Amino acid sequence: MIKVAINGYGTIGKRVADAIVLQDDMQLQGVVKTKPSYEAKIAIKNKYPLYANNKENTKAFIDAGIKIEGTIDDLIDKSDIVIDCTPGKFGAQNRQLYRSKKIKAIFQGGEKPEVAQVSFNAQGNYKQAIGKDYVRVVSCNTTGLCRTLGSIHKIFGVKKAIVTLIRRAADPNDSKKGPINAVVPVIEVPSHHGPDVNTIFPDLNILTSAVAVPTTIMHLHTIAIELEKQANASDIKDLFKNTPRVILVDEKDGFVSTAQIMEYARDLGRKRGDLNEIAVWKNSINIVSNQLFFIQAIHQESDVVPENIDCIRAMFELTKDPIKSIRKTNIAMSIQ
Ligand code: NAD
Repeated sequence: MIKVAINGYGTIGKRVADAIVLQDDMQLQGVVKTKPSYEAKIAIKNKYPLYANNKENTKAFIDAGIKIEGTIDDLIDKSDIVIDCTPGKFGAQNRQLYRSKKIKAIFQGGEKPEVAQVSFNAQGNYKQAIGKDYVRVVSCNTTGLCRTLGSIHKIFGVKKAIVTLIRRAADPNDSKKGPINAVVPVIEVPSHHGPDVNTIFPDLNILTSAVAVPTTIMHLHTIAIELEKQANASDIKDLFKNTPRVILVDEKDGFVSTAQIMEYARDLGRKRGDLNEIAVWKNSINIVSNQLFFIQAIHQESDVVPENIDCIRAMFELTKDPIKSIRKTNIAMSIQ
């Protein structure tokens, strides 16, 4: 049993904690919070051992009557690995602590690739993380692109991919960010997402650009790919049907927008209404002059969660076979 510590019990951290509890080869050793927020109370309710991020902040928990087991140092001493789920750029600062404590660590996509020895996507490069000490699970957008573009690249070859990312403004629990009534172009063209995909698939020729729109539920990608090998639309549909963590949705079934996809996840009874899979609109898959088009939606809060689980298995060599790990995680989390 691999003992796992979660540093940062927010959007990603609480989901990864819940996913760890579902696995039979790892156990949740505890979670770290900075303050006694409602999320800290939920951790206690879930019987997740709670730790403060430093000594100074322990007083706030005691004053609020919330039981903590110690600080992050105490948690690390009892754990085999830390999953750093603190806000972007904090992970790079925490790396020094993990190094000094000689503990393995997983970072998230808000960190620069240099924070780790290798970036990770289970279907893309599981084997590169085998035995590593520091690994970064790529962002939600990059994870989505790696799952679909990556599987196409392996079978049909991507000569060139052009992707437009229509990004959600903020997560549903975030009342600080916008826009609330504007479309904001990201004036970084091409955007950083293409190079991020290249941390997993170095030879994939991809250019990306992004805009932020007033929604909290899902990113959407419109994708155009020049293929190396001949294919037709049904070849791509069949490929996606057989690609783990990718589902096909059909507007004829009522999936006319991201709203119905999220409702579907809620109807499935998924915790927090999460959809860990990437949803591709089946009838958006079209090929014109060997140029493939399709549109996909990414549930930004949850697609990276199973990747963190597979990443632990690779780092501890629990299995060297990515498919075995992916299947095991999917069964435990009831995902496709
Ligand atoms: P979040 O703000 O929802 O959660 C971060 C948590 O860390 C909060 O509970 C915060 O209180 C806590 N925290 C802050 N400083 C801390 C510290 N010094 N020590 C310990 N805990 C601290 O952030 P998030 O959305 O979960 O993002 C975490 C990471 O995951 C980032 O790298 C982000 O880029 C990445 N990511 C986020 C999403 C998303 O859509 N939310 C998707 C994929 C990847």
